[in-house]
Amino acid sequence: MKRIAYIVMVILIVCNVISWSYLFLEKDNLFKVVFFNVGQGDAIFIETPEKEQIIIDGGADYNLVASKISKIVPFWDKQIDAVVLTHLDSDHMNGLFGVIEKYKIKNVLWTGKGKEGSEEKLSNWKKLIKREVIENRANEVLVKKGKKIIAENLSLDFLLPEEIKDDKDKNSNEDSLVVRLCYLETCFLFTGDISFNEEKKLIGENLKADILKVSHHGSKYGSSDEFLKSVSPKIAVISVGKNNYGHPDSGTIERISNVGAKIIRTDMKGDITIYSDGKNYGIVYQKLGE
Ligand SMILES: [Zn+2]
Repeated sequence: MKRIAYIVMVILIVCNVISWSYLFLEKDNLFKVVFFNVGQGDAIFIETPEKEQIIIDGGADYNLVASKISKIVPFWDKQIDAVVLTHLDSDHMNGLFGVIEKYKIKNVLWTGKGKEGSEEKLSNWKKLIKREVIENRANEVLVKKGKKIIAENLSLDFLLPEEIKDDKDKNSNEDSLVVRLCYLETCFLFTGDISFNEEKKLIGENLKADILKVSHHGSKYGSSDEFLKSVSPKIAVISVGKNNYGHPDSGTIERISNVGAKIIRTDMKGDITIYSDGKNYGIVYQKLGE
């Protein structure tokens, strides 16, 4: 009897190992987008099946995102293909300092400008990029509306900002980069912290996306009915901290629900990963450490 129980146990362990490694291998061949739980802020990690990696924003903590990334990429992989900074607000920018310190970056994409009043941050950022360009031969790529990047099955289409003016009264959110990213037939729209005014400029563009990164942490000043209808997302991700700034706004949540999108929030679900084979996609929640 003991012997049978032992054999059954071994069989179960073997089956478990096989199914886990199958799952792991299967997911390894998929495109993935991870919305890190960074509290108030945005930090997004993108990886193609060919292991090309892009990071959009880094959250407010200097080291948190770099440490989360180290949990999902192998320890020997110290190179990231592109870092994208949507705008200069701390809750998007700070963590990229930690990422650039820890990894070799091939391309740094940003608008090249920031509002007055953030000179110190801007000059630290510029210094860091300059060092990355000199020491690691990174490319600094200044982007705005019209920039397109196509790499195998991946395309990035930058839709905003149109132009950036140095206007000291201007809110830096208005200069946020907006990018529509498609992996084959699965499309994402990343909106930084834009508000109604910028959304209006986007109407008429191809905004269709399966997954929308809701702008400005679900603020009441963004996600208009017209904009949401143009995007018509199936999934709306809100990257937000617990109990702060009134984000996300209940009216915004209602407008998103009205277009039939499933809302998922980092403050409730933690780190959120969306896997896609280029046609179908699924969501996995996994804790990547705090
Ligand atoms: Zn923000």
